[in-house]
Amino acid sequence: MKIITKKSLGQNFLIDMNILKKIVNLTNIKDQTIIEIGPGTGNLTNLILKNKPKKFLAIEKDKDLALILKKNFKDKLKIINDDILKINEKLLSKDKVIVFGNLPYNISTEILCKWILNLDFKKFWFHCLILMFQKEVADRIISKFNSSKYGRLTILANWKLDVKKIIDIKPTSFNPKPKIDSSLLIFLPKKNFFKIKNPRNLEKITRIFFNHRRKMIKKPFNQLFNGNTEIIKKLDLDMTLRPQNLDFETYYKLACEFENLRS
Ligand code: SAH
Repeated sequence: MKIITKKSLGQNFLIDMNILKKIVNLTNIKDQTIIEIGPGTGNLTNLILKNKPKKFLAIEKDKDLALILKKNFKDKLKIINDDILKINEKLLSKDKVIVFGNLPYNISTEILCKWILNLDFKKFWFHCLILMFQKEVADRIISKFNSSKYGRLTILANWKLDVKKIIDIKPTSFNPKPKIDSSLLIFLPKKNFFKIKNPRNLEKITRIFFNHRRKMIKKPFNQLFNGNTEIIKKLDLDMTLRPQNLDFETYYKLACEFENLRS
């Protein structure tokens, strides 16, 4: 059947068998519960099924594709025709899941941020997330401090998750070809992370600090902490640094201090 791809849904189907195989081999699928987001024409879906998951859910927003997938895969997996951004991820499965997602680029970032902000303190709902991003965004997520790519997304993503780049993927691996390079990232829950009560506080602090990337941190610090000299001493902050010169931990500590001042 001829499939008309929808640009609005960011449909670039991964057709490179070597890469598809590499993706399914990243983790042990057998007897696990799998969630695939945006299965598209089912290229990855097919390979996941071959690895015999215990349960398999796929969420596809495109009505036409969802129908085709249902017809092709019948009862081998459950296709949910819905928008992942509208779904409460924690209600999808009782078991911990493995998530695969080759989503439109703008949604990958949005969904990652949504999930990070919603993560429970003690219980992660997934074993790992395997997600595709546009390379430029992936590089921001995995960057380190003192780099021009380091920013809010990096700090947020690395708070509760260990992130690793698996591979960069060229446009020729997709059909239709996207204009830019992609990267596949894997996210694993951290055992230890800073206990920030409300992740919105981390969001707020990074937003205010990174509002002016090139300016010294003195102004945003004063705005948030009213020039509190105890915190400057405790965190050994140098007020002449720029936001990108502070490592992850400093931001997590700042968020904790921000909450302490208000509790
Ligand atoms: N994973 C497939 C398809 C990638 S294209 C492959 O690698 O070949 C992105 C897929 O995500 C498309 O099938 C598109 O319809 C679907 N999609 C786009 N936005 C979505 C959303 N908000 N929720 C669920 N699926 C979405």
